[in-house]
Amino acid sequence: MSKVIFHADSRYAAIAAAPSAAPGAGAALLDARRRPLRDLRISVTDRCNFRCTYCMPREVFNAHHEFMPHGALLSFEEITRVARVAAQLGVQKIRLTGGEPLLRKSLEALVEMLARLSTPQGRPLEVTLTTNGTLLAKKAQALKDAGLSRVTVSLDALDDHMFERMSDSQVSVKRVLEGIDVAARVGLPVKVNMVVRKGLNDGQILPMARHFRHSGHILRFIEFMDVGSTNGWNLREVLTGAEILQRIAAEFPLEPVQAGYRGEVANRWRYADDGGEIGLITSMSQPFCGDCTRARLSPEGKLFLCLFASQGHDLRALLRGGAGDGEIAARLAGIWSARDDRYSELRGRATQAEEKIEMSYIGG
Ligand code: SAM
Ligand code: SF4
Ligand code: SF4
Repeated sequence: MSKVIFHADSRYAAIAAAPSAAPGAGAALLDARRRPLRDLRISVTDRCNFRCTYCMPREVFNAHHEFMPHGALLSFEEITRVARVAAQLGVQKIRLTGGEPLLRKSLEALVEMLARLSTPQGRPLEVTLTTNGTLLAKKAQALKDAGLSRVTVSLDALDDHMFERMSDSQVSVKRVLEGIDVAARVGLPVKVNMVVRKGLNDGQILPMARHFRHSGHILRFIEFMDVGSTNGWNLREVLTGAEILQRIAAEFPLEPVQAGYRGEVANRWRYADDGGEIGLITSMSQPFCGDCTRARLSPEGKLFLCLFASQGHDLRALLRGGAGDGEIAARLAGIWSARDDRYSELRGRATQAEEKIEMSYIGG
């Protein structure tokens, strides 16, 4: 007998269920640290047209690297099925990521399938996307029409030379900015993510802040994280959220903004002169595992419970082996209820010797 805990609205109820029992619709599932399952991040490909040094260094992701064959990837129908079951267990938000998700052919068809799903309370799922922006100008209208709620675009510098160094690509900053403009024009709210590597692109913090003030787009600064095993991560290259904030506040006075919901990853601040909002994602200096409500589905259908996990739980075998939705729900519930992950809080302790998964495989 495994113990599976659910809560409905604010009333908490613990029930004991056999691993094969499907949970009741409408009740949200809790993990071993009483964190509900709210967000599902779905990586739709492990391929990318960039080689960001902190994510897919070219020395490793070169001609000899074997990417997944197409047949190994979950189909759109399989992804939608997992998402539909996950929505019954509490998932409210889906984020499509990668690799570069817009490299997956006809991604808008998947968005459309996911946007039709709803929670047991009848609320449509929020479907969002994280992209490097290179194909966004071309795709934004179709994505919006398909039901995408909003988009996050990664951009680590405004200076072309620095952008080339960060992304290890020949793509111009202009092309990404165009993607952002078109997305906004078709009605997609846009957030911009900037990974900061101290001593490399930290000189771009202020130009980025100046550029996106009064733009209507929220700029979020991400501390360089020790994800994966290939990016040569080094603590000396981490500029903390507090240091980033200090630099911006020295030029533009800032005021804190209350978190919008449990599990929000960014510390939010607004410019005192109504210039808009910024966010700080401080996984290194201020871990937020206590409120982490995210599960991650890899391109070939493994469910990971933490960005820093070394092992996933295979769902593809179930999906392709004729399992019914009830069986898949019970498996998901069993996996989530046993979840105890809190890597960022434990970081540095001698317990994490295992190889970690790569960011380009599981998404941010
Ligand atoms: N290719 C898309 C993109 O770049 O937006 C989606 C996938 S990418 C893995 C998702 C996010 O992870 C990006 O915003 C990226 O900057 C961030 N990221 C990747 N490696 C990181 C690292 N080592 N530390 C912090 N953020 C990282
Ligand atoms: Fe590609 Fe995104 Fe990783 Fe950069 S961060 S290499 S764009 S997956
Ligand atoms: Fe969530 Fe793992 Fe990140 Fe902690 S380290 S916030 S548990 S993904």
